[in-house]
Amino acid sequence: MKRALNFNAGPAALPEDVLKRAQSEWLNIDNTGMSVMELSHRSDTFETIHNHAIQTLKELMDIPENYDVLFLQGGASLQFSMIPMNLLKADSLADYVLTGSWSEKALQEAKKIGTTRVVASTKDVNYTSIPKLSDIVYNQDAAYLHITSNNTIYGTQWNVFPDTKNVPLVADMSSDILSKKIDVSKFGLIYAGAQKNLGPSGITVVIIRKDLISDSLDEIPTMLNYHTHQASNSLYNTPPTLAIYLLSLVLDWAKDLGGITKIEENNAKKAELLYHAIDSSDGFYQGHAKPDSRSYMNVTFTLPNKEIEQEFLQKAKDAGFIGLNGHRSVGGCRASIYNAVPLEHCQELADFMKNFKKTYQ
Ligand code: PMP
Repeated sequence: MKRALNFNAGPAALPEDVLKRAQSEWLNIDNTGMSVMELSHRSDTFETIHNHAIQTLKELMDIPENYDVLFLQGGASLQFSMIPMNLLKADSLADYVLTGSWSEKALQEAKKIGTTRVVASTKDVNYTSIPKLSDIVYNQDAAYLHITSNNTIYGTQWNVFPDTKNVPLVADMSSDILSKKIDVSKFGLIYAGAQKNLGPSGITVVIIRKDLISDSLDEIPTMLNYHTHQASNSLYNTPPTLAIYLLSLVLDWAKDLGGITKIEENNAKKAELLYHAIDSSDGFYQGHAKPDSRSYMNVTFTLPNKEIEQEFLQKAKDAGFIGLNGHRSVGGCRASIYNAVPLEHCQELADFMKNFKKTYQ
């Protein structure tokens, strides 16, 4: 069976090898006579999988010793609330950079918890770019500065991160975690829903500098307190065992492939194929993002008018391409090319785009 040409924005394509491995262990994992879903989360087999996933992520991302990796639930969306609940004290302020709908949502939730400031925004240019680092207002009294490292809907991505000095930099990396090398020590907290680059939905990864976790925040509900999860190695309550298992397989796959260096190289090739198809189309395809803010994960573009766009999407669908419709809030087209999307699929899409354009000349 040929695998789908899957350009979904998330949940998204998973590596075929991971699915095959899971299939081979489906009925009997580690000679237990059970599937991973039927194991106790307190069993040795599951705890080994769980700790292996944490360890492999630390290795792949070169996470320093003074950081903890937490596996949580509630998606990246719950982090919009947990971050201010845990990091924003009554007498302080949280700074937000707005680069799209997800950063707006993060800000909305923080406002319910405490006082916030918007220290840069590209809303006035329809989120076509990432602000210049020099246009951000840096407040040294901020509890943290929040950014969205990759804007899944608009197709923009930070290339260089702001230097916030002593203020913890908090980043929503839901759509570009593990896609390129980053220096974790520059961040106070990184969070990501797994369903794009890390595995299936149902698990959220939080990488947090240990000193930002307080054990004195008794007023925060237990499940929303980072300390609860840190103190119990993310096994305070029943974790999403299947999702954690699949995450561990995806991380093994990434390591076997050659780690982040190789992944980053592949992602650049994939993105270049599609951006080249856009840039060499004499304006037939228009990229939404300004070239210096382009995302290597979500390639967003429009066609000359809505009718041609609909025809493109229909023909692409007929040809087997999945998930090319832009987000319902902005329309247009979007190809999400996360780590597990093969280069060949991007080549097929680039060829399809070139051929479709020819039918109009
Ligand atoms: N942040 C970003 C950048 C996203 O792309 C998404 C989901 N597409 C979210 C947050 C929300 O994630 P979740 O659905 O896991 O809550």
